Amino acid sequence: MSYFKKIEYEMIPEESFRVIRKCPGCGGKRHFINTNKFRVNANGSNLDVWLIYQCEECKHTLNLAIYERQKVVSIPKEEYQRFLDNDEQLAEWYGKTMQLFRKNKAEIDFAGLEYDMRKVHESAEYSEQDGKDLPGIVIVIKNPYRLRFRPEKQIAKALGLPRSQVKRMLENGEISWENEM
Ligand SMILES: [Zn+2]
Repeated sequence: MSYFKKIEYEMIPEESFRVIRKCPGCGGKRHFINTNKFRVNANGSNLDVWLIYQCEECKHTLNLAIYERQKVVSIPKEEYQRFLDNDEQLAEWYGKTMQLFRKNKAEIDFAGLEYDMRKVHESAEYSEQDGKDLPGIVIVIKNPYRLRFRPEKQIAKALGLPRSQVKRMLENGEISWENEM
């Protein structure tokens, strides 16, 4: 019998997703960034709410629809007030919500995205197997939004080790990892 350390992490984007899109304002393929502002448009009993993105180069706006033709009564009062107040926390939360970008067919710049690795659980696990073929550390990366990432980079960040060392440890089986959706 042998034991190994199992550490679970949750991957959290450090900042709002950036959108890559051809900009109608300045013409090139540009990054659009979260302005942390909402636009609310009331039309009778219907409501539209957008999160406002902006071209990094020319400030051309890109509105991401959060609610479209939604009955006012179906939106929680507290959230509605936060839209009106341009609540920064709420804007950042929407800026990291995959569903919003899918819905708006907005392409996310995953390559430029940095993640925090938040440790959620650590335990010692026992295995009946002979220890010599087992990794000393098993990393579980919780990734419910199926964000794209490079495992070596994230594991190095989580363990505070150089990336080259993590690469070696992965290759020779000292660390193994799994991606939990
Ligand atoms: Zn532009």
